[in-house]
This record gives sequence, C-alpha cells and structure tokens, in this order.
Amino acid sequence: MPSYDYRCNKCHEIFTVTKSMNDSSTPTCPCCGSNEVAKVWGNVQLKGCCKTSGSSSGGGCSSCSGGSCGSCH
Ligand SMILES: [Zn+2]
Repeated sequence: MPSYDYRCNKCHEIFTVTKSMNDSSTPTCPCCGSNEVAKVWGNVQLKGCCKTSGSSSGGGCSSCSGGSCGSCH
C-alpha cells in the first residue's frame, strides 16, 4: 500500500498516511485532529511532533496520541 505525506495547515505537523490508492478520503492531523491537511509531494523534511517541538529536552513523543508520529523519534 502506498504512503503519502501530508502537512497540517493548522499546526504544520507533517505526517505520513498509508492507505489504498482507491481511498480518496482526507486524513486528519494526528496531533491536533484538524482535517485541514494538504498532500506533500516529494521528499519532505519530517519535523518533530507539534506537541513536543520547542521543548529543549527533545524527549520523544509520549504525549502524542495515535502513534502516527513516526517522525518524532
Ligand atoms: Zn495539526
């Protein structure tokens, strides 16, 4: 199954969604739950989870729900 990268227009989180090519539904942001997301093509610079970015400790993504933030580690 192909995977697609999306960026949240609200919190600017970048996340990857794996879904069928026939599935045209719009995913929701794993961090803030917004459905205002846009597909990102090509190589994207995955940033940390929006809930942990800005923290000086940089300690993982334990506060992020869903486990979709594979880029947080
Ligand atoms: Zn978001």
